[in-house]
Amino acid sequence: MSLPEDHVDVLIVGAGPAGMMMSAWMARCGIKTRIVDKRGTKIFNGQADGLQSRTLEIFDSFGFADRAWKESNHMLEICFWNPDANGNIARSGRIPDTIPGISRFQQVVLNQGRIERFFLDMLAQESSIQVERGVLPTSLKLDESKAEDMSPDSYPITVTLRHLSEEEATPKQVATAANGVTVSDGLFRSNLAPDDTQDMIKAAELNAKANTVETVHAKYMLGADGAHSWVRRELGFTLEGEQTDYVWGVLDIVPITDFPDIRMRCAIHSADSGSVMVIPRENKLVRLYIQLSTTEKNTDGTSAGARVDRSKINPEVILKAANKIMAPYKLDYRRMDWWTAYQIGQRVGSNFSASQRIFLAGDAVHTHSPKAGQGMNVSMQDTFNLGWKIVSVLRGTADRSILKTYEDERGGVAHDLIKFDHKFSRLFSGRPAKDLMDEEGISLEEFKEAFAKGNMFASGIAVNYGASKIVAKTPEAATHGVNGVNGTSKAVVQSRQELATEVKIGMRMPSFKVLNQSDARPWHFQQLLHSNGSWRVVLFAGDLSQPGRRADLDAISAELSKPTSFLKRFTPSTGRYDSVIEVLTVHHGHRQEYTVLDFPEVLRPYDEVEGWDYNKIFVDEESYHEGHGEAYKNYGIDPAQGAVIILRPDQYVSYVGPVSDYESLDRFFSGFMIEQK
Ligand code: FAD
Repeated sequence: MSLPEDHVDVLIVGAGPAGMMMSAWMARCGIKTRIVDKRGTKIFNGQADGLQSRTLEIFDSFGFADRAWKESNHMLEICFWNPDANGNIARSGRIPDTIPGISRFQQVVLNQGRIERFFLDMLAQESSIQVERGVLPTSLKLDESKAEDMSPDSYPITVTLRHLSEEEATPKQVATAANGVTVSDGLFRSNLAPDDTQDMIKAAELNAKANTVETVHAKYMLGADGAHSWVRRELGFTLEGEQTDYVWGVLDIVPITDFPDIRMRCAIHSADSGSVMVIPRENKLVRLYIQLSTTEKNTDGTSAGARVDRSKINPEVILKAANKIMAPYKLDYRRMDWWTAYQIGQRVGSNFSASQRIFLAGDAVHTHSPKAGQGMNVSMQDTFNLGWKIVSVLRGTADRSILKTYEDERGGVAHDLIKFDHKFSRLFSGRPAKDLMDEEGISLEEFKEAFAKGNMFASGIAVNYGASKIVAKTPEAATHGVNGVNGTSKAVVQSRQELATEVKIGMRMPSFKVLNQSDARPWHFQQLLHSNGSWRVVLFAGDLSQPGRRADLDAISAELSKPTSFLKRFTPSTGRYDSVIEVLTVHHGHRQEYTVLDFPEVLRPYDEVEGWDYNKIFVDEESYHEGHGEAYKNYGIDPAQGAVIILRPDQYVSYVGPVSDYESLDRFFSGFMIEQK
């Protein structure tokens, strides 16, 4: 049966974390979108569980970080266990799990199924977008000649979708009897399992009844269809890198054990039997990552380099390996929630996009070991980077050229991630050094140092995008960042980083508390930066009682008020005053000496229906109940001088300059925004 042809702005293939984050942007910004997934249901247990600080900041910008924060287990300390002089494991050190002070959120763990649920609830509340399950694409065509065609009726992508029967959409799983209870495994989503997409397409073709075919025309498409990505293969792109010999088993259990640190995150290295990573989870669950083989020899006796026979891996084998590593402590369980096994490989996609029309994100463009808790986080951060760019282009407010920055920015992160994972996995899977002379072994100090450094990378906070049209920093400055220079294009204007030394251009805006000028309520600054597609100009006006500060504020406000200002030129006449660029003001001094009405009207705009906007002007001062955020001090801004900061819709810092320099702001936005009629 054929359904009528459909036209959408965005088609998303895959409803895992990357696809869901993309759909969140589309739902929030009212973009006509469809999202399909070949599986019949969402994930309910197992799979990813670690949520990093940056991911929680992003969830907060969509309004559901509080749900994750409340339901999750919070990880505060990492304990290191290494062989003692007798060869028995003993605790050898502790460090904080999240580096103190880098974010208002610390790492937590919660299963991927709950995280996907938060997204689904958001979609239901804010849009008519629904995940269409048991639906997969079977053909894909991109008309290259239309790639740059921006006319409203141009749809360069044509996809055929097939709707599967329930049976076809259900993954074949091994049901394992564990202590009398049958547990489904997660092997079907492991890299040890062969991809079943072709089988599913074939089954659908043979099933005349359930099989419905549909042609969908799309302006943009996202392949967020995981490590075996069908979209990637259709585009002829590859994943480049290597598979290692390291094989790990994963158990989600409620443990019965005499190991004392079972409710701490632990890195356990035995003398000769391999390693275990302990991740305490919600509802008394504990996840154990257990090394099943070493480079020397696999557990099933095959030599290094051979692929492991997954039929030989089961929970009992994994538990036995864990007991050997954790001896003399004993580990058992009454309840097992989930288990899987995987082989470590580190690979990055050859391309992230076809003609900036079809994009790849998440595991479809980078795969690595799950132990550092990165995959889900980085996957969501990919589409958090991409979503608002596509929205701006579809809305006609930004030039298509900004889409190029997706590959530059996220490609850089993917390469950094692979480098990080390579190092981390080697350290984790390697043998601990016996003594100072044992150069082949990994010393505790080396491991601890790499772990502490890795924590900064793993938090997601260290991401530092290179210079481009939308990041006004000099390429020299970018080389000091995590990603270095991305080489797309030069900054249109010159930033003055020294005016806000701790607000790093290319990195996400840090958060400190400020008070609302009109009602004295304290807010973490990031809480003001909702993900709604708007850019932000933040006027750190300085101490208005100091010479020149008031004059600079009045002068820039006068420029912003003109009909020719970038605020007015780039905002559609039908749009709200802050729908493209929002202006926020943070002054330093005494709130009680001012009222919002003392500030120029353009900084607290008036709306016929809603009246004055009371949520635009803030002050850096002590609050009644929550202390002093010391925002100016923490941002490295001198109250006698002030600074203007431009923030992208994803909270990354584009530009830092003086309050007196309206011209640079105008030139920055003119570099990629489209004047509205
Ligand atoms: P996926 O989650 O793989 O989602 C892809 C979706 O696309 C699936 O729903 C699939 O059904 C669908 N799909 C596939 N092919 C098609 C097709 N042809 N048509 C339609 N739909 C299709 N990451 C972390 O950040 N923290 C962790 O703690 C963590 N732990 C992990 C533990 C384990 C044991 C494993 C296996 C992974 C772990 N990860 C972790 C990694 C994380 O699960 C992945 O990186 C993440 O799920 C990738 O998200 P994604 O959306 O790119 O892909």
